[in-house]
Amino acid sequence: MELIDTHCHLTFEDLAPDIEGVLARSMAAGVTEWITVGTDPHENRKAIQFAERFENMYAAVAIHPHDAKTVTADTLAELKNLAQHEKVVAIGETGLDYHYDFSLHEDQRRVFAEHLKIAVELGLPVIIHCRKAFDETMEILEQAGSGVKRVVFHCFSGSAEQAKIVLDKGFYISFTGVVTFKNAEKTRRAAAVVPVDRLMMETDCPYMSPEPMRKQKVNEPALMIHTARFLADLKQMDWEDFARVVTATSRTFFGLM
Ligand SMILES: [Zn+2]
Ligand SMILES: [Zn+2]
Repeated sequence: MELIDTHCHLTFEDLAPDIEGVLARSMAAGVTEWITVGTDPHENRKAIQFAERFENMYAAVAIHPHDAKTVTADTLAELKNLAQHEKVVAIGETGLDYHYDFSLHEDQRRVFAEHLKIAVELGLPVIIHCRKAFDETMEILEQAGSGVKRVVFHCFSGSAEQAKIVLDKGFYISFTGVVTFKNAEKTRRAAAVVPVDRLMMETDCPYMSPEPMRKQKVNEPALMIHTARFLADLKQMDWEDFARVVTATSRTFFGLM
């Protein structure tokens, strides 16, 4: 069994000091590849260092919408540089977060559009972070045009109707352990409408451990196995068949060897 954690933050302080242990437990659980996602200039550089150090690890780089207010032309120039590293497989996470509102909407929209420009120029897929900003996120993606090749909505928190809109555009949808939470009926309804070959999985660790491990405060890639089994059940699939399809999708989407 080989699963890919397509969105984790292994450089964050909760995980980085024990990275060898984190990866050993992950391998033992069958989660054998990782895309570690940068969120600011410092984390982006660290993500690339990690990806250089571990063979099965890749990086995604971006400035998180939370930090949009800090982004200057220099920030974007450095981002574009970093994104050309051979182990960078995506631009992300980028998008809009109107839930926390840590940056003005105007800044978030501008920075999101700039990220899409870089993705188009470099031919990289895009990892979207979208909270309470669905219509505007779709609008900005629309404006970016057909040059944006591959798009995944990470940690999907929308409705089944919104999932259908995303799928109609040819985009992909990724689920975290949230789908296993007791109160996540809406997310399960969304997962139900996503064809298994348009679906990916992630931990978004160190956040959001899946049930029945939700009490484990620091989530890690090994725990993605619970989300995988849960989603296989939801899709009424043999779990190894399910894992095979999702891994193949992730590999193609991110262009992994
Ligand atoms: Zn996110
Ligand atoms: Zn994330």
